[in-house]
Amino acid sequence: MAFFGTNGVRGIANEYITPQLVIDVARSIGTYMGSEGTVAIGRDTRASGEMLKSAAIAGALSVGLTVIDVGIVPTPSIQYYVKDHADAGIVITASHNPREYNGVKLIAEDGSEFSREGEREVEKIYYSRKFTAASWERTGDLRTDLNANEYYIKGIIDSVDSESIFRKGFKVVVDTGCGAGSVTLPFLLRRLGCEVITINAQVDGTFPWRNPEPTPDVLTELIDIVKMTGAVMGVAQDGDADRAVFIDEMGNFIPEDILLAMMAKYVLERKKGPVVTPVSSSSRMLDVTRDAGVELVWTAVGSINVARKMMEVDAVFGGEGNGGLIFPEHQYCRDGAMACAKFLEIIAGGQKLSELAASVPVYYNSKTKVRCEDLEGTMDKVKKAFAGSENKVDAIDGVKIWYDDGWVLIRPSGTEPIIRIFAESGTQERAEGLMKEGVKLVEECKA
Ligand code: MG
Repeated sequence: MAFFGTNGVRGIANEYITPQLVIDVARSIGTYMGSEGTVAIGRDTRASGEMLKSAAIAGALSVGLTVIDVGIVPTPSIQYYVKDHADAGIVITASHNPREYNGVKLIAEDGSEFSREGEREVEKIYYSRKFTAASWERTGDLRTDLNANEYYIKGIIDSVDSESIFRKGFKVVVDTGCGAGSVTLPFLLRRLGCEVITINAQVDGTFPWRNPEPTPDVLTELIDIVKMTGAVMGVAQDGDADRAVFIDEMGNFIPEDILLAMMAKYVLERKKGPVVTPVSSSSRMLDVTRDAGVELVWTAVGSINVARKMMEVDAVFGGEGNGGLIFPEHQYCRDGAMACAKFLEIIAGGQKLSELAASVPVYYNSKTKVRCEDLEGTMDKVKKAFAGSENKVDAIDGVKIWYDDGWVLIRPSGTEPIIRIFAESGTQERAEGLMKEGVKLVEECKA
């Protein structure tokens, strides 16, 4: 199994993600960079964060890199910082994973996530253990810059219609879940003239109230406060604040794939151009882009794939159906705070979130997973089963089979011996039917 998963290296802190592992990852990236340049190093709020950030700093200095310690930062904040101030970035984060986890994520020179190819190179060095060691007089210098978050907040204010937001003086309820968004989102919103009511906005790496993943079942308090206070919106972020989910002014949780379509619709009303999303996204995206007369470009699952494709086709918007929205006018990465500011811009323009949510088409989903030891062999057979069929088949990531009234996506997991089956249609019944057909096919192919 690859060292770097979908989102960097992750595991339980001080068991798998030890200081030694982090030192070696930092030495690997330093060796990859030819022992030259500046790396920004930051972390989310996890309890083991300071320990692991110190390890990353030590590793990078030992190779001879200049290190800028940026402290506690959301992932999109350090990404924005790296773009203009460093040659690479290392962020100690496990995003939405449970409390006991931590991880390492690498950031490329342009602020985007490290490419898969780059990760493979770093991985090779990691396993070869051929790290460069700087001679005693050339070990790196360490600086501290605690202005990364301020720089990031300013970048967002400059990328939205902040004047119209400011004039409205919106009431907004914020639940940053004690994660990295706690040091940015409430401050951004106050700067945008909002009356901000916060819950779980203290930095606390034990995440005392809720898990870092903002699922509807842990957001009941946020929902209650939105209803009680008459706020225009509630917002909750995951542990590293690259994703955000939203509660409308009626107190309804807006499913993430609807958020994506809502934002695409809003963006396309103002600017025409390609939109990029992974194959797992809802057909809502197809409808919204078709109505706007623009191209929808599908990619493999993973925000890095979406971001890179957006650069390539000069997209006006892109994102995933999990609350990870990418705004090219700000930066090519998922950004929860930017999404929040953009939704306020929508509300400032006179639309209510509940109305915009109701204006995107309705689809239903059904999903399951099947255990499978031979992922590659089984997927090959799945592909062959549809060769020459009348159905349109996409093999961008797994196999996606299109029907007149829906689709089913069959994808192997990158980390476990399972195949995921995900279906969508205009009715729940048909979505379940398509899902079951997918399961049947996988069962036949793995036999
Ligand atoms: Mg995240």
